[in-house]
Amino acid sequence: MPKRYFQRGSGVFTCQCCGRRTRITTQDVDHICAECYDLAGLENTLSDEGPEYFISGRGIQERDRLIAELIKHGVSRTIIEQQFSSLAKIEDTIVELQFSRLTGGQKGAKH
Ligand SMILES: [Zn+2]
Repeated sequence: MPKRYFQRGSGVFTCQCCGRRTRITTQDVDHICAECYDLAGLENTLSDEGPEYFISGRGIQERDRLIAELIKHGVSRTIIEQQFSSLAKIEDTIVELQFSRLTGGQKGAKH
């Protein structure tokens, strides 16, 4: 007697990060969709390397691509920006950094 190849609900889960239902990815991470996984990776890069890494704009393009992908899957931008708040405001962080360099001020200048 042949086995059923497709079980109902098999391989589908709800992403704990953005809340969308998706298929299990090849990544060895439970209950996180591929886009959230990559966004979390970018956020790690931000905390490890600092905003300097993003000044070239490459990380930002990747972030925007991933966010656009999630929005296409019906996730609201608000949820994404809440989950990845430091990534969402990376432009502001870069502006602050460049401003403090221009003014010759040290990071967190004391008064
Ligand atoms: Zn997700």
